[in-house]
Amino acid sequence: MSDVRNVIIIGSGPAGYTAALYTARASLKPLVFEGAVTAGGALMNTTDVENFPGFQDGIMGPELMDNMRAQAERFGAELIPDDVISVDLTGDIKTVTDTAGTVHHAKAVIVTTGSQHRKLGLPNEDALSGRGVSWCATCDGFFFKDQDIAVIGGGDTAMEEATFLSRFAKSVTIVHRRDSLRASKAMQDRAFADPKIKFAWDSEVAAIHGDQKLASLTLRNTKNGETSELAATGLFIAVGHDPRTELFKGQLDLDDEGYLKVEAPSTRTNLKGVFGAGDVVDHTYRQAITAAGTGCSAALDAERFLAALS
Ligand code: FAD
Repeated sequence: MSDVRNVIIIGSGPAGYTAALYTARASLKPLVFEGAVTAGGALMNTTDVENFPGFQDGIMGPELMDNMRAQAERFGAELIPDDVISVDLTGDIKTVTDTAGTVHHAKAVIVTTGSQHRKLGLPNEDALSGRGVSWCATCDGFFFKDQDIAVIGGGDTAMEEATFLSRFAKSVTIVHRRDSLRASKAMQDRAFADPKIKFAWDSEVAAIHGDQKLASLTLRNTKNGETSELAATGLFIAVGHDPRTELFKGQLDLDDEGYLKVEAPSTRTNLKGVFGAGDVVDHTYRQAITAAGTGCSAALDAERFLAALS
């Protein structure tokens, strides 16, 4: 078969570009599918990133991703801003098909397709993202010192976000659709014991308001339909994530929530020559630096796998 690549990388967030940088510097000439609409990954939708090491004054998310892209390209990574629409990863030579129907072949594949945070589905949710609306307290909590914050959700993540945010916030209101939480008892107890945390039970967000920045929410009672206003300049949405693993179902082992399973601490999947990194694997940390870290591990795992073939 002609034109068999060493490695194809699917995804272009911090994990994908880091894997591209490392495999390119190892002279493996990686081909990277960046995605059609979301090239650069999740950080393309945010403003300041203050916790990526090496940027003392912070950096804008899109600028950070442009830098990562350029750095990978400088060492010879071939980048294609297109989606992969199907894969066959089962054989020694893997096939990856793009939207034009072109089939690409490689001995190794690194999957870094990320995960999509669930949205509330409100009209100005995207417009206010990074302007009060957030999906990550670790990333953005610091920006909300002495402010009134709402956290949406009733699971462990929502409790963790709320207790973390209460360090900075004036108040944190947990808005939950039901009258009891799904979170573990220990997480609930911590939230109940926190004097800054209040609860809006049986409530959902009907609307969010603000021009350039979030100013308030309209809550709707799920039992009687009554609405009320909640002043909040921060809104943290913690209603779950969907890993982008649809393409790999039936080939790669996934966990109960659909995340890619790897043989940690390696990035090996159940298929030889296929590696996974970043948020498509990780439902615990979900940070740019951890995604970049595992992207590096995947590149090194792929490099060693390819070396052992020759
Ligand atoms: P992603 O960045 O999600 O990238 C996945 C990539 O896969 C995308 O490029 C997508 O186009 C591509 N892809 C998916 N399917 C296909 C396909 N079929 N074909 C081709 N390509 C495909 N973290 C921090 O550390 N600090 C922060 O300040 C911070 N702020 C954030 C703000 C927001 C609004 C969000 C949403 C997240 C933030 N995060 C932050 C989290 C961070 O962005 C993620 O942890 C990180 O981007 C995960 O990297 P990844 O490479 O695994 O996946």
